[in-house]
Amino acid sequence: MGSKIISGITSDKSVRIYVVDSTEMVEQARMIHKATPLSTAALGRVISATSIMGRMLKSEKESLTIQVKGNGEIRSIIGVGNAEGNVKVYISNPDVVRPANAQGKIDVGGAIGEGHLIVIKDLGMKEPFIGRSELVSGEIAEDLAAYYMQSEQQPSVVSLGVLMDQEIGGVVAAGGIIIQPLPFADDDVIDKIERSIMGLPAISTLISEGNSVEDIARIALKEFEVEIISEKPVALYCDCSRERVEKALISLGKNELTDMLETDGHAELSCHFCNKKYQFDTENLKNLISSLDEK
Ligand SMILES: [Zn+2]
Repeated sequence: MGSKIISGITSDKSVRIYVVDSTEMVEQARMIHKATPLSTAALGRVISATSIMGRMLKSEKESLTIQVKGNGEIRSIIGVGNAEGNVKVYISNPDVVRPANAQGKIDVGGAIGEGHLIVIKDLGMKEPFIGRSELVSGEIAEDLAAYYMQSEQQPSVVSLGVLMDQEIGGVVAAGGIIIQPLPFADDDVIDKIERSIMGLPAISTLISEGNSVEDIARIALKEFEVEIISEKPVALYCDCSRERVEKALISLGKNELTDMLETDGHAELSCHFCNKKYQFDTENLKNLISSLDEK
């Protein structure tokens, strides 16, 4: 079964909700990046958040980047999403191993450390929107809720989770929920949301118990009646191409390229997001260098 995302709204039009089951995307990302269970848990939370925030974009031309940058061993995770909710993701250090935290949970916060969460929205205008907030715990869901409050003045409930099979290292279940009261919602609505989510199990538990994304939307907002607005499959994607990699090579400049040609005679570049490898042989490098001469 593939990954899936839904959006819904309460029948009184006071609250919107997004739920993603990203299990398959996170398992795929784990394999691409050869990530440990801990690094996968961190990657997976960013994947779910990016997918939902991508779906919140208004038009197909828009895109969104979430960067989690910390002083912990992971260093940085970058998720890029489009309006379809499809995501590509990069992690600086996929090899992090740490003991469980004080609550006996996988220690994502410790592996991220202190730092910032940065959201870049390319809305097709001249300048992108850039929002930035300090990390609260490095656990990502809390950090994103804080980002929304500080940077967009939007109260939000954010739940992100990845359940790993600790023995074989595979992803059992992964997903995310974002709940937001719409503008002008009164205090009653906030109270009702709080009553709804009280005692809500982890999203990964709900998925592993066989609940669909629709079920989860109704469980998470049990004090309301929820209408599902949209439902669609989501997947990991990458838009890298040989042309883009060539541009990156050209940007190194003539000296660097000539040096590459003389020492190795070839170059191999791999995409940070999907790990696809691009080969440039002697002839390719010579052509790139001579294209620089023409300018
Ligand atoms: Zn790629």
